[in-house]
Amino acid sequence: MTRACTNAELENFPALEWEQIAGRISSPVRAALEQVMETGDGADLSRGECGELARAEGDDLLGLLVASDAVRRDLAGNIVTYVVNRNINFTNVCFVGCKFCAFSRGPREADSYFLTLEEMARKATEAWDLGATEVCIQGGLPHGLSPFYYRDILRAVKSATPKMHIHAFSPMEIVYGVELTGMPLRDYLCMLRDNGLDTLPGTAAEILDDEVRFVLSRNKLTSAQWEEVIRTAHGCGIRTTSTLMYGHMETPEHWVAQLAKFRAIQEETGGFTEFVPLGFVHQNTLLFQQGLARSGPTLAEHLKIHALARVMLAGAINNIQVSWVKLNRRLSQLCLHAGANDYGGTLMEENISREAGATAGQYTSPEEFQALIMEMGRIPAERSTTYTRLHLKVAAGAMTTEQAVVEEFA
Ligand code: SF4
Repeated sequence: MTRACTNAELENFPALEWEQIAGRISSPVRAALEQVMETGDGADLSRGECGELARAEGDDLLGLLVASDAVRRDLAGNIVTYVVNRNINFTNVCFVGCKFCAFSRGPREADSYFLTLEEMARKATEAWDLGATEVCIQGGLPHGLSPFYYRDILRAVKSATPKMHIHAFSPMEIVYGVELTGMPLRDYLCMLRDNGLDTLPGTAAEILDDEVRFVLSRNKLTSAQWEEVIRTAHGCGIRTTSTLMYGHMETPEHWVAQLAKFRAIQEETGGFTEFVPLGFVHQNTLLFQQGLARSGPTLAEHLKIHALARVMLAGAINNIQVSWVKLNRRLSQLCLHAGANDYGGTLMEENISREAGATAGQYTSPEEFQALIMEMGRIPAERSTTYTRLHLKVAAGAMTTEQAVVEEFA
């Protein structure tokens, strides 16, 4: 039986060189990793090889982590990007009832809230004045929402901040908007685009397997609906992220199937900007309390999903993001050594809240990002939402901005 890595081995893997670990890796795993390192492309990995990588333990896992870092270096360079943004979660009222969610509230709960259009426009203006280039707008799904409310949010925010990039509305919200308006999906998405929607978060994916989804949330959109929204958005010129929630009741086979699906969609549409693994936060969730899920990901799982994504998606989706809000800062850095190249957003919301006297700590300043990135010996760069513009924050040494941009995207 394969041994599991100790936490010390996992925490120290960035010091390992490929030559030191290669001889200890099992032959099939080594062959698969060498193939991707040689070609910079995960397209030829068989489903069986991907399964071996997803189940890798011990030296095979250490090999996967070291190889993913080499593939990242080749495909995304030494730059670590981030976007200066603000989250606007406009309501926490939601009828969907996902068992993994600790955010939603019933409409009569004391701490439920609903921001007005004016409040959202004001938040966007504040963010713009403080240097943000993106607002990420998502919310719960309240009963009785006015049919064109999502369009009205876009109009309010765009008229207050015409140059702000609006990254908004999960596929679940899109399905709800279609239901509320009675419009065909494509028309609805084009209408949102024409009113200011720039990109769509690929959230609400969780695990794209309906048996698992039914346990996570009986009322959530199906995996086919998620894919339809994403493909249609890409067809309308609206790019999206791709996400996967890990560390609950899913298996390595679910990871492989989902990454293979994202790769196939990307090869057809080219519409994904990045892949974002989202670790399950188990505290205060029904899913965990009812014994349906494990207590979040282990250190090995956190590192493995980033590394597996880098290797499987190589040549198709070349930006792998760490979700630093769900990881801690040290773990984010380790994941950035395990194939990831993007820190995500600064999430200015909490900065403003903190300045207003709140104590929540869900904010990382651009300066903190820069320090964390340079501590790793990498180059910090602020990016636009779609990675089309990079602004280096230190002298880049061997790599120019132009090279970085050229090398970045498939
Ligand atoms: S739809 Fe979103 S806000 Fe509503 S319960 Fe599910 S995860 Fe929470």
